[in-house]
Amino acid sequence: MDDYEHTDGHDHGHGGHHHHHDHDHQDVPADIALRVKALESVLVEKGMVDPAELDEIVDRFENRVGPRNGARVVARAWVDAEYRERLLADGSGAIGELGYLGGQGEHMKVVANTDRVHNVIVCTLCSCYPWPTLGLPPSWYKSSAYRARAVIEPREVLREFGLDVPGDVEVRVWDSTAEIRYLVLPERPAGTEDLTEEELAELVTRDSMIGVATVPAPPSPGGGS
Ligand code: FE
Repeated sequence: MDDYEHTDGHDHGHGGHHHHHDHDHQDVPADIALRVKALESVLVEKGMVDPAELDEIVDRFENRVGPRNGARVVARAWVDAEYRERLLADGSGAIGELGYLGGQGEHMKVVANTDRVHNVIVCTLCSCYPWPTLGLPPSWYKSSAYRARAVIEPREVLREFGLDVPGDVEVRVWDSTAEIRYLVLPERPAGTEDLTEEELAELVTRDSMIGVATVPAPPSPGGGS
């Protein structure tokens, strides 16, 4: 329930004043977590809410809807050069074309990985994350270790994720805020020339859009290596 930090009236909305991160909302106040838990208990007790349905909603944002939307944005950019151009120039506009804007992701900037630049996203002060394109953030994204170290020693952090960024590739770290959320456009893997847009989207992982992984090449159809 950590994510309620972004919906409980702190300044993660877009009320018009440009207030950047405060340090007072890094963690969910204990009483809010408690109240959410209590509310859930009461609703379940009164038969107004099925706990399995709640789990299903969380699962949907965490694992299905979220990252799948981002994956479709990436696949479209891979097959459509003009879309890619629009996406990099105006993330919100191009993502909006596909219908994937919404709360916690109204203002999007998309950063493209190339053979010279590798991008990675973090929210150093809390856990700002593009919900409509990636779903809910994974717990490691919200951890204080990731938030601190992604900025200080990004290459080491990426290595721990199993991603060795060559020394001649620049690593750029993007610090998300309430005002602007980032999405990494990963590189299209080799050997995917014949895939459809839909098949390409299947390849795109959540982690590749955060920038802690690359998109793996598809297994070869022959079953060989
Ligand atoms: Fe944040």
